[in-house]
Amino acid sequence: GYTQQLPDLTGKIRLNSNENPYGPSENSKKAMMDSMAEANRYPRDFITKLKEEIATREALTPEHVLIAAGSTELLGLAGLTFGLGGGELAACHPTFDFMMVFAEGLGCTWARTPLDKKFQYDLHALDKIIGPKTKLIFVCNPNNPTGIEIPYPRLKSFCGAHGTKYPLFVDEAYIELSNGGRKGSMAGLIEQQPKLIIGRTFSKVHGLAGMRIGYALAQPDMIKAMSNLQSTRGMSVSALAASAALASLKDPAFEDYSRGRILEGRKMVNDAFDEWGVEYLESSTNFVFFKNDKFVSDPVEAMAKENILIRSYDYVPGWSRVSIGTVEEMEMFLAAAKKYVVA
Ligand code: PMP
Repeated sequence: GYTQQLPDLTGKIRLNSNENPYGPSENSKKAMMDSMAEANRYPRDFITKLKEEIATREALTPEHVLIAAGSTELLGLAGLTFGLGGGELAACHPTFDFMMVFAEGLGCTWARTPLDKKFQYDLHALDKIIGPKTKLIFVCNPNNPTGIEIPYPRLKSFCGAHGTKYPLFVDEAYIELSNGGRKGSMAGLIEQQPKLIIGRTFSKVHGLAGMRIGYALAQPDMIKAMSNLQSTRGMSVSALAASAALASLKDPAFEDYSRGRILEGRKMVNDAFDEWGVEYLESSTNFVFFKNDKFVSDPVEAMAKENILIRSYDYVPGWSRVSIGTVEEMEMFLAAAKKYVVA
């Protein structure tokens, strides 16, 4: 099995940003140390190697890959590339809204439609708001902050219906933690769907949020259009970040270990919430979205008193989100949370 030195638990327990408490992997740390000696050089070769590795894994070419400083940069680049002249970005709400909010700053409108009654990303409702003004469609699978994944055949047919006509960004930040894992990815459709863009990140299962690195997969002309607007000329990530990412991709033992322990922590939360009668959504990610009506006070404030950070959203009143930390952190969260739950 895979074991490693974990950070100590003194100070605040950070369960508010969906980070991976087990990262970076030992191999990534070693790769970063080794690549430090190359910090005097531009990172081109490191980025090229990483692109080649990603392309091979996805059965695509390096021209199908864009490396950026986290998927946040990818979301910004897509918003910029396709939303620059105004028009509409179509997406459900609530979701990870960085792209839409960024594009609103460029003069775009966010044409939004709510999640369905079960908090599922509502592709049927989204279908109805797509039209002549649509510049870009955004789908988050699994979605944040709900943690729910879209059934594979449903998303596949949605991509089939729109991916030739509209730039369609599928944000797969949490795909490795979903039930089907990477097999549930839409990346396999890129050859048939010329406008499909897949966003991935090293911040979640790979545990490299602080290194700021992610990648997009799309047809070469789409990749080129986005990279043309990258103000760093294809070099927004450091040699350290690129080598850490490469080492992590080549370390399936770390990914399995991370996933296994995250799922263990998630089950602890689900089991406790079941026992307490706290309503929550079945998560396919490293966080759980739960209803706070069983709590005697706002769980975000209550947990802050206990030195535990979780979060809520003003646009989803009555619900909060807890990220899955280490198993030990989840024990502490549950012990603290229990004090505020009405029996
Ligand atoms: N997409 C989704 C759905 C996310 O939840 C996050 C981070 N919380 C991101 C993108 C951005 O992650 P990063 O920039 O670290 O890759």
